[in-house]
Amino acid sequence: MNFGTDLLTETLELQDFYLARKRIEPYTQKTPLVYSKKLSQQLNANIYLKYEHFHESGSFKYRGALNSLNNLTEAQKQKGVITFSTGNHGYALALAAKKLNIRAIVCVSKNVPRAKTDRMVDLGTELEIYGNSQDEAEARCYELAKSEGFMIIPPFDHLDIIAGQGTTALEIIEDLPTTTDVIAGLSGGGLVSGIGAVMKKINPKIGVIGISMEHGAAMHESLKQGRPTIVDEPFSLADSLLGGIGDNNQYTFNFVKQYMDYSILISEEHIKMGMAYLYKEHKIAVEGAAAVGVGALLNNKVPVKEGANVVVIISGSNVDLDAHYEAVRAYLD
Ligand SMILES: *Cc1c(COP(=O)(O)O)cnc(C)c1O
Repeated sequence: MNFGTDLLTETLELQDFYLARKRIEPYTQKTPLVYSKKLSQQLNANIYLKYEHFHESGSFKYRGALNSLNNLTEAQKQKGVITFSTGNHGYALALAAKKLNIRAIVCVSKNVPRAKTDRMVDLGTELEIYGNSQDEAEARCYELAKSEGFMIIPPFDHLDIIAGQGTTALEIIEDLPTTTDVIAGLSGGGLVSGIGAVMKKINPKIGVIGISMEHGAAMHESLKQGRPTIVDEPFSLADSLLGGIGDNNQYTFNFVKQYMDYSILISEEHIKMGMAYLYKEHKIAVEGAAAVGVGALLNNKVPVKEGANVVVIISGSNVDLDAHYEAVRAYLD
């Protein structure tokens, strides 16, 4: 019988997040929670930044990748793992696999530029170059997993990934037990699923807010339509937030629906403002996807109660110097 998508049939308990944390602890450092004096003054609240771009892989995706790999059986570790992401997940998985001495394969289409895959190849990742689109590369990934027995480690729609991403919320609550709201970038929803599940189990009143870019916000649109929905994906500075949620989404759609209060969309200009602000006030260079929360706050897109304790996830640093400069230059003086 189909109960529809209203019930989470498979979920995660707080214990799962603590277990994930134990698994990743030997390979990661707790990331800093930094008070933003200026943003706090501006918003009449206490704004903290969670520096997830400080991970060795450059993004929080390292948490999910490490948790997934550490949770494999010995036989699965022997076989190796496979994925199709060339972005932060692919790199995090490549790095985690190298640390754990596990064979890793990444399927990419013929169109993916070398610059995107070089850093994974440098870590010893094998590339499977196949087809002319991301969809064909993804299909190839599933084919090889089936025929060769590799474990697929997808970028977000997996309980071990969600549990790994949620470990950031455990660190937040330890450092700031009075947290009232968490703001995070929203794409496939692994990050918001993990943070939301932890925070709502600790206190259902803690606000969990997802931010996506105006064009190509697949999860936002899917929630609106009540089912996984395909959207156009024009260029965005928040390139790590692009991509669909999968028509056969198993977990994150329901997790986000259950644990996120709401999501909002912000413009490319506001993303630039977020990047520039973080560079000027905090001297950090982050990618567009990591700046959406600050961009939203600066433009009063998220209502903040007076005296609230708001944590903004700064999710990654995967941006090259030219792209960063191009984005922030208009705001530098
Ligand atoms: C993947 C990613 C996100 C979004 O995470 P999802 O789990 O896909 O929602 C946000 N910021 C950065 C830098 C990312 O790499």
